[in-house]
Amino acid sequence: KVVKSVMTRAITVKPDTSVEEVAKIIIQNNVNHLPVVDDEGRLVGIVTSWDIAKAVAMGKMGKVKDVMTRKVITALPDEPVESAARKMEKHNISALPVVDAKMRVLGLVTSEDLSKLLAR
Ligand code: SAM
Repeated sequence: KVVKSVMTRAITVKPDTSVEEVAKIIIQNNVNHLPVVDDEGRLVGIVTSWDIAKAVAMGKMGKVKDVMTRKVITALPDEPVESAARKMEKHNISALPVVDAKMRVLGLVTSEDLSKLLAR
């Protein structure tokens, strides 16, 4: 099995989106991980519900670019799911944006998607 067969649609945000707006997007779409993309759709970061909670806890209600993680761990569409699982385990994260060779976001693979494979 490869990543593209289990990945889901990613909801992305822009670096200038406000932290408050991201909180709304997370609740409205029932998601935890939002890849951050530039105007060309290329990955520049990731922001999660954890980052939003931290921003609120620190009273730092600015923009996504102030609270996102810039060094993103990614997966490729044809990468084996075992490899994606190992990356998540190694870095203590629960989702990887799936990108093409030009770093354009194709989707998201989450630990939830991978556990569904085991449950089948
Ligand atoms: N264990 C929790 C989890 O799985 O989400 C939280 C720990 S994790 C270290 C929290 C941080 O990881 C957040 O600051 C988030 O931006 C970052 N993060 C999440 N997914 C990431 C990814 N694919 N690449 C890089 N950082 C990521």
